[in-house]
Amino acid sequence: MFSKVLIANRGEIALRIHRACREMGIATVAVHSTADADAMHVRMADESVCIGPAPASLSYLSMPNIISACEITGAEAIHPGYGFLSENATFVQVVEDHDITFIGPTAEHIRLMGDKITAKETMKALGVPCVPGSEGGVPTIEEARRAAKEIGYPVLVKATAGGGGRGMKLARAPQDLERAFSTARSEAKAAFGNDEVYLEKYLGRPRHIEIQVFGDGRGNAVHLGERDCSLQRRHQKVFEEAPSPVIDAETRARIGKTCADAIAKMKYAGAGTVEFLYEDGAFYFIEMNTRLQVEHPVTEAIYDVDLVQEQIRIAAGLPMSFSQADLVPNGHAIECRINAERLPDFRASPGTIQAYHPPGGLGVRMDSALYQGYVIPPYYDSLIGKLIVHARTRDLALARLDRALAELIVDGIDTTTDLFRALLDEPAIRSGAYDIHWLEQWLAEVAGTEEA
Ligand code: ADP
Repeated sequence: MFSKVLIANRGEIALRIHRACREMGIATVAVHSTADADAMHVRMADESVCIGPAPASLSYLSMPNIISACEITGAEAIHPGYGFLSENATFVQVVEDHDITFIGPTAEHIRLMGDKITAKETMKALGVPCVPGSEGGVPTIEEARRAAKEIGYPVLVKATAGGGGRGMKLARAPQDLERAFSTARSEAKAAFGNDEVYLEKYLGRPRHIEIQVFGDGRGNAVHLGERDCSLQRRHQKVFEEAPSPVIDAETRARIGKTCADAIAKMKYAGAGTVEFLYEDGAFYFIEMNTRLQVEHPVTEAIYDVDLVQEQIRIAAGLPMSFSQADLVPNGHAIECRINAERLPDFRASPGTIQAYHPPGGLGVRMDSALYQGYVIPPYYDSLIGKLIVHARTRDLALARLDRALAELIVDGIDTTTDLFRALLDEPAIRSGAYDIHWLEQWLAEVAGTEEA
């Protein structure tokens, strides 16, 4: 096992990884930008290294600075968390060239799944059902027209390098296609430096259901059921639950096995998420994330596992600590992403935390790097905490969420806490009858915000 791990991230996820290491007797190295010198992840870690100025491109994304921090401190492995360099195949290669272990899959698997066109082709060949779409990329508007006609409108133009909902444009009818095609391409070029796009059938009312998988890199793999992440704003998840209100045990076992078998054949190592849209009882693969997900705690709650410790075990060459037969879900878990944003327009709300009181009690977990007096810097994303509740049934989990939200105090900035309190009064949330468009429609109608 490693004796020292460097955590190449910040905020709640850096703290989450530190906690996993600490329980395993592994010393931690935090890295931070000058803007994060006082951050909680820096205070908690055994050692810390400043890796550059505030902009992420000069610090959290600086490969030479992170490698240097490893060499100075003698860390043997790097955990990337999510975002930043977590799905950067070049970084993995650089790390390995320096005889440091990357806690995650191989560069080859990251590259394969990082390109959505090759990801779909690979998964299709492995027997995973995919969204109907173009055969590979569509380089010209003529080819886009031909493909769209074959697929049938409405179609979605998607960037093969896409992420975070960017580079995705809807064409409801033929006259929309040219605009969708050119804006998706220019958005993708600007955001990812790659303007390749492909087309997909646009599903009208699907749910977003994703399967957590885990492989040992030697051809063994398991699944840990699904997470339902259908509550989204601008293609970004805001509330996740496990199990999904619409997936039964038989369906879970079937799609779970399809995914586990696929990643076993690839000899995939570590944690991964196979994302699907689910409509009328059918699953359609959209992408695979080759890292830990923000919403991993809901899976941890119902399967009683520590996914970060499991990632570290696999990276250290140990076998998985569970087999498929050990993985029996228990109860229901829900996560709310608490953002430093002002309602109703979701404008970023950085500033100083005047008071912070996290909720507690049975079945409540608050993953957050907040503390009283902390100054939220304006340079990074607005996630300031994840509130996760776990209870025997979905109804009990909703009741627990309601009381936990009422206990949460974050003074000094605006947060999205009240959004969740309002959502808990909605019949569609209480019954679980919502799809990926529900939240934006609700925001437009009920909350009166301007949504697409
Ligand atoms: P990203 O990598 O940018 O997050 P994804 O491919 O994972 O992009 O899609 C993000 C979200 O966009 C999905 O959860 C879903 O809400 C929506 N989406 C993606 N593909 C489709 C589709 N074919 N039809 C309808 N909605 C889609």
